[in-house]
Amino acid sequence: MTEFFRTGRAAAEFLGIDEPDDWRRVEAVYPLLVNRHCLDLIDRSKGDADPVWRQFLPSAAELDDWKSDFDPLAEERQMLAPRLIRRFLDRAVVLVTGNCAVHCRFCFRKRLWKQGAKLADISDAELEAILVALREHPEIREVLLSGGDPCMVADGRLREIIAAFSSLEQISVIRLGTKLPAVWPERFTPQFIDMLAGFDKLWLLTHFNHPNEVDAAASAVCRSLIRRGVPVLNQCVLLRGVNDNPEVMEELFRRLLAIKVKPHYMFHVDPVRGVRHFATGIEAGLEVLRYLRGRLSSLGTPTFAIDLPEGGGKVALQPDYSSGGGFCDIHNKKIINYPDKEMKK
Ligand code: SF4
Repeated sequence: MTEFFRTGRAAAEFLGIDEPDDWRRVEAVYPLLVNRHCLDLIDRSKGDADPVWRQFLPSAAELDDWKSDFDPLAEERQMLAPRLIRRFLDRAVVLVTGNCAVHCRFCFRKRLWKQGAKLADISDAELEAILVALREHPEIREVLLSGGDPCMVADGRLREIIAAFSSLEQISVIRLGTKLPAVWPERFTPQFIDMLAGFDKLWLLTHFNHPNEVDAAASAVCRSLIRRGVPVLNQCVLLRGVNDNPEVMEELFRRLLAIKVKPHYMFHVDPVRGVRHFATGIEAGLEVLRYLRGRLSSLGTPTFAIDLPEGGGKVALQPDYSSGGGFCDIHNKKIINYPDKEMKK
Protein backbone atom coordinates (compact mmCIF):
# COMPACT_ATOMS: atom_id res chain seq x y z
CA MET A 1 0.00 0.00 0.00
CA THR A 2 1.22 3.45 -0.86
CA GLU A 3 2.07 5.67 2.05
CA PHE A 4 0.63 9.20 2.03
CA PHE A 5 2.37 12.25 3.49
CA ARG A 6 0.35 15.21 4.74
CA THR A 7 3.10 17.33 6.23
CA GLY A 8 6.31 18.69 4.82
CA ARG A 9 8.11 17.29 7.81
CA ALA A 10 7.02 13.72 7.01
CA ALA A 11 7.83 14.10 3.30
CA ALA A 12 11.24 15.62 4.10
CA GLU A 13 11.98 12.81 6.53
CA PHE A 14 11.14 10.23 3.85
CA LEU A 15 13.42 12.03 1.38
CA GLY A 16 16.18 12.20 3.99
CA ILE A 17 16.45 16.00 3.87
CA ASP A 18 15.95 18.85 6.34
CA GLU A 19 12.51 20.36 5.95
CA PRO A 20 12.98 23.62 4.01
CA ASP A 21 12.07 26.70 6.08
CA ASP A 22 9.34 27.90 3.73
CA TRP A 23 7.31 24.71 3.52
CA ARG A 24 5.22 25.29 6.66
CA ARG A 25 4.32 28.81 5.58
CA VAL A 26 3.17 27.52 2.17
CA GLU A 27 1.33 24.52 3.64
CA ALA A 28 -0.72 26.84 5.85
CA VAL A 29 -2.31 28.17 2.65
CA TYR A 30 -2.07 25.20 0.27
CA PRO A 31 -1.88 21.94 2.24
CA LEU A 32 0.69 19.38 1.19
CA LEU A 33 -0.43 15.95 0.07
CA VAL A 34 1.94 13.57 -1.67
CA ASN A 35 2.51 9.85 -1.68
CA ARG A 36 5.37 7.42 -1.73
CA HIS A 37 4.91 6.65 -5.42
CA CYS A 38 5.64 10.28 -6.35
CA LEU A 39 8.47 10.71 -3.85
CA ASP A 40 10.10 7.55 -5.23
CA LEU A 41 10.16 9.13 -8.71
CA ILE A 42 12.26 12.05 -7.44
CA ASP A 43 15.97 12.16 -8.13
CA ARG A 44 17.00 13.49 -4.73
CA SER A 45 20.37 14.69 -5.99
CA LYS A 46 18.52 17.31 -8.08
CA GLY A 47 16.57 18.74 -5.14
CA ASP A 48 13.89 21.23 -6.16
CA ALA A 49 15.12 21.17 -9.76
CA ASP A 50 13.68 17.69 -10.12
CA PRO A 51 10.53 17.77 -12.30
CA VAL A 52 8.48 15.59 -9.95
CA TRP A 53 9.61 17.51 -6.83
CA ARG A 54 8.54 20.78 -8.46
CA GLN A 55 5.05 19.42 -9.16
CA PHE A 56 4.23 18.08 -5.71
CA LEU A 57 6.40 19.73 -3.06
CA PRO A 58 5.83 23.29 -1.81
CA SER A 59 7.73 26.33 -3.00
CA ALA A 60 7.84 29.79 -1.46
CA ALA A 61 7.03 31.12 -4.94
CA GLU A 62 3.42 29.94 -4.40
CA LEU A 63 2.94 32.81 -2.00
CA ASP A 64 4.14 35.29 -4.61
CA ASP A 65 0.62 35.98 -5.79
CA TRP A 66 -0.62 36.49 -9.29
CA LYS A 67 -3.35 38.81 -7.91
CA SER A 68 -5.72 36.42 -9.61
CA ASP A 69 -8.53 34.66 -7.82
CA PHE A 70 -9.11 30.98 -7.17
CA ASP A 71 -11.53 30.56 -10.06
CA PRO A 72 -9.99 32.36 -13.04
CA LEU A 73 -12.15 30.40 -15.49
CA ALA A 74 -15.32 31.52 -13.69
CA GLU A 75 -16.50 27.92 -13.31
CA GLU A 76 -18.64 28.74 -10.28
CA ARG A 77 -20.61 31.21 -12.41
CA GLN A 78 -21.26 28.65 -15.15
CA MET A 79 -23.08 26.08 -13.04
CA LEU A 80 -26.30 24.59 -14.39
CA ALA A 81 -26.75 22.87 -11.04
CA PRO A 82 -24.46 22.58 -8.02
CA ARG A 83 -21.27 20.76 -9.24
CA LEU A 84 -22.37 20.84 -12.91
CA ILE A 85 -20.32 23.27 -14.98
CA ARG A 86 -21.30 24.00 -18.53
CA ARG A 87 -18.56 25.63 -20.58
CA PHE A 88 -19.40 24.35 -24.07
CA LEU A 89 -22.60 23.69 -25.99
CA ASP A 90 -22.43 19.90 -25.97
CA ARG A 91 -20.26 19.19 -22.90
CA ALA A 92 -20.45 19.62 -19.15
CA VAL A 93 -18.11 18.99 -16.25
CA VAL A 94 -19.25 17.24 -13.06
CA LEU A 95 -17.27 17.89 -9.86
CA VAL A 96 -17.55 14.42 -8.36
CA THR A 97 -15.34 15.08 -5.32
CA GLY A 98 -12.77 17.52 -3.98
CA ASN A 99 -10.41 14.72 -2.97
CA CYS A 100 -7.14 13.97 -4.74
CA ALA A 101 -4.34 11.51 -4.07
CA VAL A 102 -1.81 14.34 -4.30
CA HIS A 103 -2.00 18.11 -4.27
CA CYS A 104 -0.41 19.33 -7.49
CA ARG A 105 1.13 22.69 -6.75
CA PHE A 106 -0.11 24.06 -10.11
CA CYS A 107 -3.71 22.84 -9.73
CA PHE A 108 -6.31 25.20 -11.23
CA ARG A 109 -9.05 23.85 -8.95
CA LYS A 110 -7.18 24.31 -5.69
CA ARG A 111 -10.24 26.19 -4.49
CA LEU A 112 -11.64 22.68 -3.82
CA TRP A 113 -8.80 21.62 -1.53
CA LYS A 114 -6.94 24.70 -0.27
CA GLN A 115 -6.89 25.41 3.46
CA GLY A 116 -10.44 25.73 4.76
CA ALA A 117 -12.06 24.15 1.70
CA LYS A 118 -13.29 20.60 1.49
CA LEU A 119 -15.63 19.42 -1.24
CA ALA A 120 -17.00 16.05 -0.15
CA ASP A 121 -18.04 13.27 -2.53
CA ILE A 122 -21.19 13.99 -4.50
CA SER A 123 -24.41 13.06 -2.67
CA ASP A 124 -27.46 11.23 -4.08
CA ALA A 125 -29.48 14.44 -4.03
CA GLU A 126 -26.76 16.36 -5.92
CA LEU A 127 -26.44 13.57 -8.48
CA GLU A 128 -30.21 13.52 -9.01
CA ALA A 129 -30.30 17.31 -9.48
CA ILE A 130 -27.54 17.02 -12.11
CA LEU A 131 -29.44 14.31 -14.00
CA VAL A 132 -32.54 16.53 -14.01
CA ALA A 133 -30.49 19.47 -15.36
CA LEU A 134 -28.97 17.31 -18.09
CA ARG A 135 -32.40 16.06 -19.17
CA GLU A 136 -33.45 19.69 -19.51
CA HIS A 137 -30.48 20.21 -21.82
CA PRO A 138 -30.54 17.35 -24.33
CA GLU A 139 -27.91 19.16 -26.42
CA ILE A 140 -25.34 18.11 -23.79
CA ARG A 141 -23.94 14.86 -25.17
CA GLU A 142 -20.74 14.47 -23.19
CA VAL A 143 -19.91 14.67 -19.48
CA LEU A 144 -16.45 14.99 -17.95
CA LEU A 145 -16.28 13.48 -14.48
CA SER A 146 -13.72 15.56 -12.67
CA GLY A 147 -12.95 17.14 -9.32
CA GLY A 148 -10.68 16.62 -7.43
CA ASP A 149 -10.08 13.15 -8.74
CA PRO A 150 -13.18 11.01 -9.33
CA CYS A 151 -11.12 7.83 -8.94
CA MET A 152 -10.69 8.72 -5.25
CA VAL A 153 -14.35 7.75 -4.80
CA ALA A 154 -14.90 4.18 -3.58
CA ASP A 155 -15.41 1.58 -6.33
CA GLY A 156 -19.07 0.88 -5.60
CA ARG A 157 -20.04 4.55 -5.39
CA LEU A 158 -18.12 5.45 -8.55
CA ARG A 159 -19.90 2.60 -10.32
CA GLU A 160 -23.25 4.11 -9.31
CA ILE A 161 -22.19 7.55 -10.54
CA ILE A 162 -20.94 6.33 -13.92
CA ALA A 163 -24.01 4.11 -14.31
CA ALA A 164 -26.29 7.10 -13.68
CA PHE A 165 -24.75 9.07 -16.55
CA SER A 166 -24.52 6.00 -18.72
CA SER A 167 -28.24 5.46 -18.42
CA LEU A 168 -28.98 8.82 -20.03
CA GLU A 169 -29.60 8.18 -23.71
CA GLN A 170 -28.47 11.69 -24.68
CA ILE A 171 -24.97 11.06 -23.25
CA SER A 172 -22.71 9.30 -25.73
CA VAL A 173 -19.34 9.94 -24.09
CA ILE A 174 -18.32 9.89 -20.43
CA ARG A 175 -14.82 11.18 -19.80
CA LEU A 176 -13.19 10.18 -16.56
CA GLY A 177 -10.53 12.78 -15.76
CA THR A 178 -8.02 11.21 -13.38
CA LYS A 179 -4.40 11.68 -12.46
CA LEU A 180 -4.24 8.41 -10.57
CA PRO A 181 -2.60 6.25 -13.28
CA ALA A 182 0.36 8.67 -13.03
CA VAL A 183 0.48 9.21 -9.27
CA TRP A 184 -1.19 6.21 -7.67
CA PRO A 185 -1.19 3.28 -10.10
CA GLU A 186 -1.90 0.78 -7.28
CA ARG A 187 -5.41 2.25 -7.12
CA PHE A 188 -6.15 0.43 -10.37
CA THR A 189 -6.76 -3.02 -8.95
CA PRO A 190 -8.02 -5.71 -11.34
CA GLN A 191 -11.50 -5.26 -9.77
CA PHE A 192 -11.45 -1.52 -10.34
CA ILE A 193 -10.36 -1.95 -13.97
CA ASP A 194 -13.11 -4.59 -14.43
CA MET A 195 -15.65 -2.11 -13.14
CA LEU A 196 -14.50 0.67 -15.49
CA ALA A 197 -14.34 -1.70 -18.44
CA GLY A 198 -18.02 -2.46 -17.94
CA PHE A 199 -19.04 0.94 -19.32
CA ASP A 200 -19.06 1.28 -23.10
CA LYS A 201 -19.31 5.06 -23.08
CA LEU A 202 -16.27 5.56 -20.86
CA TRP A 203 -13.01 7.23 -21.94
CA LEU A 204 -10.19 7.86 -19.48
CA LEU A 205 -8.33 11.17 -19.60
CA THR A 206 -5.16 11.00 -17.59
CA HIS A 207 -2.42 13.46 -16.74
CA PHE A 208 1.28 12.74 -17.20
CA ASN A 209 3.45 15.87 -17.36
CA HIS A 210 6.96 14.47 -17.55
CA PRO A 211 8.51 11.31 -19.05
CA ASN A 212 9.86 10.29 -15.62
CA GLU A 213 6.24 9.71 -14.53
CA VAL A 214 5.62 7.10 -17.23
CA ASP A 215 7.17 4.30 -15.18
CA ALA A 216 6.52 0.56 -15.31
CA ALA A 217 3.56 0.61 -12.88
CA ALA A 218 1.82 3.52 -14.60
CA SER A 219 2.42 1.98 -18.02
CA ALA A 220 0.94 -1.34 -16.87
CA VAL A 221 -2.25 0.40 -15.70
CA CYS A 222 -2.71 2.22 -19.01
CA ARG A 223 -2.07 -0.93 -21.00
CA SER A 224 -4.58 -2.92 -18.91
CA LEU A 225 -7.26 -0.28 -19.37
CA ILE A 226 -6.69 -0.14 -23.12
CA ARG A 227 -6.66 -3.92 -23.43
CA ARG A 228 -10.03 -3.97 -21.64
CA GLY A 229 -11.49 -1.50 -24.12
CA VAL A 230 -11.15 1.76 -22.18
CA PRO A 231 -9.49 4.38 -24.44
CA VAL A 232 -6.81 6.36 -22.56
CA LEU A 233 -5.76 9.88 -23.59
CA ASN A 234 -3.34 12.24 -21.89
CA GLN A 235 -3.67 15.91 -21.02
CA CYS A 236 -0.52 17.64 -19.83
CA VAL A 237 0.17 21.15 -18.59
CA LEU A 238 3.15 23.13 -19.75
CA LEU A 239 5.04 24.02 -16.57
CA ARG A 240 8.12 26.18 -16.20
CA GLY A 241 11.03 24.16 -14.87
CA VAL A 242 9.17 20.87 -15.32
CA ASN A 243 8.52 20.25 -19.00
CA ASP A 244 8.92 23.56 -20.87
CA ASN A 245 11.54 21.98 -23.06
CA PRO A 246 10.75 20.56 -26.52
CA GLU A 247 13.04 17.56 -26.06
CA VAL A 248 11.42 16.64 -22.74
CA MET A 249 7.99 16.93 -24.34
CA GLU A 250 9.04 14.78 -27.30
CA GLU A 251 10.22 12.11 -24.86
CA LEU A 252 6.97 12.31 -22.89
CA PHE A 253 4.82 11.94 -26.01
CA ARG A 254 6.95 9.09 -27.36
CA ARG A 255 6.69 7.18 -24.07
CA LEU A 256 2.92 7.68 -24.07
CA LEU A 257 2.61 6.51 -27.67
CA ALA A 258 4.64 3.41 -26.80
CA ILE A 259 1.91 2.43 -24.31
CA LYS A 260 -0.84 3.47 -26.77
CA VAL A 261 -1.90 6.55 -24.80
CA LYS A 262 -2.74 9.37 -27.20
CA PRO A 263 -1.28 12.77 -26.23
CA HIS A 264 -4.51 14.76 -26.48
CA TYR A 265 -3.96 18.25 -25.02
CA MET A 266 -1.02 20.32 -23.86
CA PHE A 267 -2.47 23.21 -21.82
CA HIS A 268 -0.98 26.53 -20.92
CA VAL A 269 -1.18 26.90 -17.13
CA ASP A 270 -4.29 28.74 -15.91
CA PRO A 271 -3.77 31.97 -13.98
CA VAL A 272 -5.02 30.67 -10.66
CA ARG A 273 -3.54 32.16 -7.54
CA GLY A 274 -0.19 30.75 -6.46
CA VAL A 275 0.98 29.28 -9.77
CA ARG A 276 2.66 32.25 -11.41
CA HIS A 277 6.08 30.63 -11.10
CA PHE A 278 4.90 27.78 -13.34
CA ALA A 279 3.72 30.03 -16.19
CA THR A 280 5.73 29.73 -19.39
CA GLY A 281 4.01 32.10 -21.79
CA ILE A 282 2.39 30.98 -25.02
CA GLU A 283 5.60 31.09 -27.07
CA ALA A 284 7.03 28.12 -25.11
CA GLY A 285 4.12 25.93 -26.22
CA LEU A 286 4.39 27.08 -29.82
CA GLU A 287 8.10 26.28 -29.66
CA VAL A 288 7.27 22.71 -28.62
CA LEU A 289 4.91 22.35 -31.60
CA ARG A 290 7.49 23.77 -34.04
CA TYR A 291 10.09 21.35 -32.71
CA LEU A 292 7.77 18.36 -33.01
CA ARG A 293 6.67 19.20 -36.54
CA GLY A 294 8.25 16.64 -38.83
CA ARG A 295 9.85 14.80 -35.89
CA LEU A 296 6.78 13.22 -34.36
CA SER A 297 3.60 12.08 -36.11
CA SER A 298 0.29 13.81 -35.52
CA LEU A 299 -0.69 10.76 -33.47
CA GLY A 300 1.88 11.84 -30.88
CA THR A 301 1.36 15.59 -31.13
CA PRO A 302 -1.25 17.08 -28.81
CA THR A 303 -3.35 20.17 -29.38
CA PHE A 304 -1.85 23.16 -27.56
CA ALA A 305 -4.62 25.17 -25.89
CA ILE A 306 -5.21 27.96 -23.45
CA ASP A 307 -8.34 28.61 -21.43
CA LEU A 308 -9.54 32.16 -21.80
CA PRO A 309 -10.23 33.94 -18.52
CA GLU A 310 -13.75 34.56 -17.25
CA GLY A 311 -15.09 31.41 -18.92
CA GLY A 312 -14.26 32.57 -22.44
CA GLY A 313 -13.57 28.98 -23.51
CA LYS A 314 -10.65 26.97 -24.76
CA VAL A 315 -8.58 28.25 -27.68
CA ALA A 316 -6.26 26.02 -29.70
CA LEU A 317 -2.95 27.62 -30.67
CA GLN A 318 -0.74 26.81 -33.65
CA PRO A 319 2.56 28.26 -34.87
CA ASP A 320 2.09 30.54 -37.88
CA TYR A 321 3.85 28.52 -40.54
CA SER A 322 2.87 31.02 -43.25
CA SER A 323 5.29 33.52 -41.72
CA GLY A 324 8.23 31.26 -41.24
CA GLY A 325 7.43 28.41 -38.85
CA GLY A 326 10.01 25.64 -38.85
CA PHE A 327 9.68 22.19 -40.41
CA CYS A 328 12.21 19.49 -39.76
CA ASP A 329 13.53 17.98 -43.00
CA ILE A 330 14.80 14.69 -41.68
CA HIS A 331 16.61 13.55 -44.85
CA ASN A 332 18.66 16.70 -45.21
CA LYS A 333 18.88 17.21 -41.44
CA LYS A 334 17.81 20.83 -41.48
CA ILE A 335 14.92 23.09 -40.60
CA ILE A 336 13.13 24.67 -43.55
CA ASN A 337 10.45 27.32 -43.42
CA TYR A 338 7.03 27.79 -44.93
CA PRO A 339 6.60 28.98 -47.63
CA ASP A 340 9.70 27.44 -49.06
CA LYS A 341 10.31 26.16 -52.57
CA GLU A 342 12.04 23.11 -51.11
CA MET A 343 8.69 21.97 -49.72
CA LYS A 344 7.45 21.41 -53.28
CA LYS A 345 10.19 18.99 -54.27
S1 SF4 B 1 -4.98 15.69 -9.30
FE1 SF4 B 1 -5.96 17.25 -10.58
S2 SF4 B 1 -7.51 18.19 -9.25
FE2 SF4 B 1 -6.08 17.07 -7.92
S3 SF4 B 1 -4.55 18.55 -7.29
FE3 SF4 B 1 -3.76 17.55 -9.14
S4 SF4 B 1 -4.42 18.85 -10.84
FE4 SF4 B 1 -5.66 19.40 -9.03
